Amino acid sequence: MLPRIGSYRMRDYSARLLQRKKDGLYRHRRIIESPQSTEIVCDGKKLLSFCSNDYLGLANDVRIKHAFTRGIEHWGNGAGAAHLITGHTSAHHQLEEELAEWLGRESALLFSTGYMANSGIINALMGRGDIVIEDRLNHASLIDGGLNSGAQMVRFPHADTDAAEQKLLDHKGKHALLATDGVFSMDGDIAPLQKLANASRKHNALLLVDDAHGIGVLGNKGRGSLDREGLSQQDVPLLMGTLGKGFGVFGAFVAGPELLIETIIQDARSYLFTTAAPAAMAEANRAALRCVMEDQWRRDKLAVLISRFRSGAEQLGLNLMPSETPIQPVLVGEADKALSMSQALEEQGLLVTAIRPPTVPRNSSRLRVTLSANHEETDIDKLLDAFEQIQAGKTR
Ligand SMILES: *Cc1c(COP(=O)(O)O)cnc(C)c1O
Repeated sequence: MLPRIGSYRMRDYSARLLQRKKDGLYRHRRIIESPQSTEIVCDGKKLLSFCSNDYLGLANDVRIKHAFTRGIEHWGNGAGAAHLITGHTSAHHQLEEELAEWLGRESALLFSTGYMANSGIINALMGRGDIVIEDRLNHASLIDGGLNSGAQMVRFPHADTDAAEQKLLDHKGKHALLATDGVFSMDGDIAPLQKLANASRKHNALLLVDDAHGIGVLGNKGRGSLDREGLSQQDVPLLMGTLGKGFGVFGAFVAGPELLIETIIQDARSYLFTTAAPAAMAEANRAALRCVMEDQWRRDKLAVLISRFRSGAEQLGLNLMPSETPIQPVLVGEADKALSMSQALEEQGLLVTAIRPPTVPRNSSRLRVTLSANHEETDIDKLLDAFEQIQAGKTR
């Protein structure tokens, strides 16, 4: 008989939660009581954080805060409706035009979140009888977007362009979309973008690059991983970027040819059936875009911090991954070991999240170290010292 919860009988959810705890996979939400920064107050404790995606350190930037506040004074709080009703203000529209111009693309379209963007892009452009081809380590939003589109969905081994091309050949004659992260969110490596672009062009497939972790961070003026690889709209028609990571605000966009953007406006369910983000947020994102373009020093500083961390970690014999980006995971393996290392770091005043299944494959649990332009070199040294302490503890 099913257990009783209140006056209902329903599935035994508590057994499932208990099993998660036993497997060391139970997730807790930490309560943060300070603005996002390298030093945060977490569950009442001040910690040096290496966990955020605020790579450029703009999440608490005063220029963007002022734009946000002025935006609220001018536009009020909520947009009040979806974009296709009365929610699309000139602030949203200007942000779209500025993003398109910055990226050298015909058009750009805002979404409320990156998750919704990926879902909407694939849903609008692909359907029954089509084929969606994805890297196995793609972000969950790309995977879910593919699965929910009605198209057949196939995956290829991580960064294996030959396998991706083989999938295109296997499904010759079908309308195909190839989708990849630009920078992989849990590994930090950059996709083989030129090769994927060549394969897509050769087989007339659409290519969608999700640059959530590259936009603002890589390339000239922060234009992202495509710019870094010298790839234009001709090479990669669909560029998706998020505004809650490098930009330090919230939101997302897709940029590309007018024809595709117009199609997405007409058909993307996660665009049509949702309230527009507040206009003030669009104003904040416009200010963030100016910061991203102008503050080259943030990217330069990140490069210094990344190389300092990598050389120190290599000296300690930590298991790094081949990443040139601010995502610098330390591979551990077992979920409970990653968790106990994360706890040991926290006892030393450092916050580094343990990433465990199902976010990453089994036995590849890791400490996901992320760096921000607001970190100082001394912060990196503190982190390295803490890792050294943990190692010393273990050999005893
Ligand atoms: C964070 C992330 C998203 C989702 O973006 P949100 O704006 O947070 O919804 C999509 N793709 C990748 C690769 C991401 O890392």
